[in-house]
Amino acid sequence: MNSELRQAEHLTFNETRLLKRHGRSAVAIMAMHTLLCMVYYRMGEFRISPEWGTVLLVGVWVTMSGYLLLLGSGLTLRFREPSLSLPLIIYCIVVFAVSGYYVDEFRLSVVTLFFAILLLVSFKLSGKVMVGVAMLSSAAYAIMLWLALDDRWVQLSFSVEALQWLVFTMISISFAITGGSINRLRNDLSDKNRELAKGLEQVREMAIRDDLTGLFNRRHLLEILDRQKALADRKRVPFSVCYVDLDHFKQINDRFGHEWGDRVLRRFSQVVLADMRDGDYFGRLGGEEFLLILPQSDEEGALLVAERLRKRWREEQFVQEGGPVSVSLSVGVAAYRDKESIDDILNRADRGLYKAKSSGRNQSQVA
Ligand code: GH3
Ligand code: MG
Ligand code: MG
Repeated sequence: MNSELRQAEHLTFNETRLLKRHGRSAVAIMAMHTLLCMVYYRMGEFRISPEWGTVLLVGVWVTMSGYLLLLGSGLTLRFREPSLSLPLIIYCIVVFAVSGYYVDEFRLSVVTLFFAILLLVSFKLSGKVMVGVAMLSSAAYAIMLWLALDDRWVQLSFSVEALQWLVFTMISISFAITGGSINRLRNDLSDKNRELAKGLEQVREMAIRDDLTGLFNRRHLLEILDRQKALADRKRVPFSVCYVDLDHFKQINDRFGHEWGDRVLRRFSQVVLADMRDGDYFGRLGGEEFLLILPQSDEEGALLVAERLRKRWREEQFVQEGGPVSVSLSVGVAAYRDKESIDDILNRADRGLYKAKSSGRNQSQVA
């Protein structure tokens, strides 16, 4: 059941994982951009000087590496928009405008790559910001075109270039509008995701807790024992168990009513929890039987803990509230023996408990 729940937790989004994937996508698009620039340069179509070309591409890769490192470090998780999509897209607008300036024939291919980045950030930016980004890219394109036309008036056709600019602007704006809806959808999904994670946590709690006392239930205690056994077998970390049973509990039900029985069980769990050492585990096996798991304790240490608990519980009085004067308990103690099974150690603790019961109750015994 618990492992199934753990699997189900993977179904909910993991923000950090998404963030890294976002970073990798941005880097992949910029890699395509670099590749295009180099191909055009070899073809003689990227009319930039080798020095400036190097500065441009090295600059891009220094920036993108910094961006990836920043996302990977988790430092940006504190920001409202941890993917830093707005700075990223503004940076890309500048890079694409600069490189677009140098490739006349193939300007559209560089611009098409820009749409890939635009699509990527539309998952992160709100509709309004996306429209702003579209306007900005349109303005950057216009300035780039103006400079290019100014420089190479003879080779370029104003009407063709202007038409391409217009198409670019229209596509950018439609991206922005669609991006707004994608973003709303994403926000709804992430709200649902949070609710789902909360629900899963509640289900998980219900699966490992006992209804009456809120203590770990039998199933979870057995899982803890499995873990402790593995630790003991691998790393020789000892552990012990105390099998606790309240004495003559049936009489409490019979004389004071079932309600009182429940009340005593709840009070007992509170007393133990308040008195327990950090790192120990305590749960209800069922009925009026409980199990205390003590990592790092040998038999002697466990007996001391059991005796302290027995005396502490003996002091608890119910008579003022109309219940029994006090309730005693018996404990069977067992320390884990190399390679024995969980059943074996529980059986030994149970035999210790039987010994305690048959020797007059209100005591702790080892088998
Ligand atoms: P002993 O000292 O030998 O342990 O005697 P006992 O009466 O405590 O043990 P026995 O096993 O005879 O009775 C246990 C009783 O615990 C029987 C059952 O009605 C009661 N019981 C089990 N679960 C609950 C519960 O959740 N609430 C209440 N009120 N009683 C419970
Ligand atoms: Mg019992
Ligand atoms: Mg009992």
